[in-house]
Amino acid sequence: MTVYTVINPATEQPVTEVAQADVGQADAAIERAARAHEAWRKVAPGDRARLLRSFAAAVDAHIDELAALEIAGSGHPVGQARWEAGHVRDVLLYYSAAPERLTGQQIPVAGGLDVTFREPVGVVGLIVPWNFPMPILSWGMAPALAAGCAVIAKPAEMTPLTAIRIGELALEAGVPEGVFQVLPGKGSVVGRRLVDHPLVRKIVFTGSTEVGQQIMAGCARQVKRLTLELGGKSANIVFADADIEKAAATAPYAVFDNAGQDCCARSRILVQASVLDKFMGLLETAVKAVKVGNPAADDTEMGPLISAAHRAHVASYVPEGAPVAFRGSAPDGPGFWFPPTVLAPVSTGSPAYTEEIFGPVVTVTPFADEDEAIALANDTPYGLSGSIWTGNVGRAIRVARGVEAGNLSVNSHSSVRYWTPFGGFKQSGLGRELGPQAVDAFTEIKNVFIATE
Ligand code: NAD
Repeated sequence: MTVYTVINPATEQPVTEVAQADVGQADAAIERAARAHEAWRKVAPGDRARLLRSFAAAVDAHIDELAALEIAGSGHPVGQARWEAGHVRDVLLYYSAAPERLTGQQIPVAGGLDVTFREPVGVVGLIVPWNFPMPILSWGMAPALAAGCAVIAKPAEMTPLTAIRIGELALEAGVPEGVFQVLPGKGSVVGRRLVDHPLVRKIVFTGSTEVGQQIMAGCARQVKRLTLELGGKSANIVFADADIEKAAATAPYAVFDNAGQDCCARSRILVQASVLDKFMGLLETAVKAVKVGNPAADDTEMGPLISAAHRAHVASYVPEGAPVAFRGSAPDGPGFWFPPTVLAPVSTGSPAYTEEIFGPVVTVTPFADEDEAIALANDTPYGLSGSIWTGNVGRAIRVARGVEAGNLSVNSHSSVRYWTPFGGFKQSGLGRELGPQAVDAFTEIKNVFIATE
């Protein structure tokens, strides 16, 4: 049996060992899920709803425990970790209202009655990345269970602890055995088996665009249903007519939250040239004020990176002689720390400007006018999120319509609310999660005609 040693990224100390499933165990879990699905889809809608509410209550009763696991296993600051555990509860509660509302249509036809049903798609394989282990698990898990699907979740190798505990809480809450299974293991073993096994009818994948492309090719062989949430390189566009103080004060949190390990990170700040100097002065103060340190401390805003290898990857974007405008602080000593870093001026061809760094590094680039701002924002294969700062309503709407991205915010950086749709344009993804339609993505429409004559 192979095991994976989970490392605390803030201390570099081992936390625990987690057994890694092999192909045989993955097959057994998939067969168990297929059997459980047959029973789960027949559970009366009101009962399925009640079980999801019990599951949410079990999560709610264990928020502190789940947060502690995420602090130890992922280095998330305590305030963020508690929010994430509460988010799992909220997503479960939101979709617990779905089973009784999974209605079809009655369509007028001659000689009979025509009705549509939303049938659960079948066993769902949910492949989760390491950056937001709890929220991303819940985005696939909750609507799939509500639709009547059985779910096998494969957490990322480095961050399995909260998913394992949430799997136990589902059982304690009365969700039947086999309906929601958590299967830790390697992407190349368990993840690939979920993609290849014919009894898995849908894959929900969040992770890198590179692995997403392989998974899409794998799913194509069986025309397997697929949702993809992939990388990003989002723009934070600041116009001269904006509240520059507020735009500068909030910009660090739009990219350094979760130490920049956020697919929605606004990692390219675009600033109208006429206010560049003022903005940079205010941004420097804000960046230097970001509190980086012990994730367990209540006032910590940014923790460490996930691993030594990831820190080396992030550091490769800030080589000797890189155009560092200014940096924040980070602790010395053990832990995979990296200080918030602002690069400027940066050429639009340099890797720091074009590639997803997935760390606390941001570039600042000036633009002349609205057209150039939109062109720069769209000059990327990605299209996940972005922010627009302006005092002009018409401009806000024009730019929001012009930027090719799935989640935009005006005079704010918020982009994830569980009751609004989330997902990417271009190579940032396929399909949408969250919001009122998410359950539909776990169903097939069936049309039935019943002759009356
Ligand atoms: P990753 O692609 O390396 O891994 C993601 C998951 O896929 C892990 O569970 C991994 O074990 C599994 N996996 C790896 N190879 C596989 C294979 N061949 N077959 C099946 N499964 C396989 O990504 P990561 O490094 O864990 O996460 C970071 C990436 O995720 C970033 O690019 C980030 O932008 C993206 N992300 C996107 C969103 C979004 O909603 N768009 C959200 C969070 C993260």
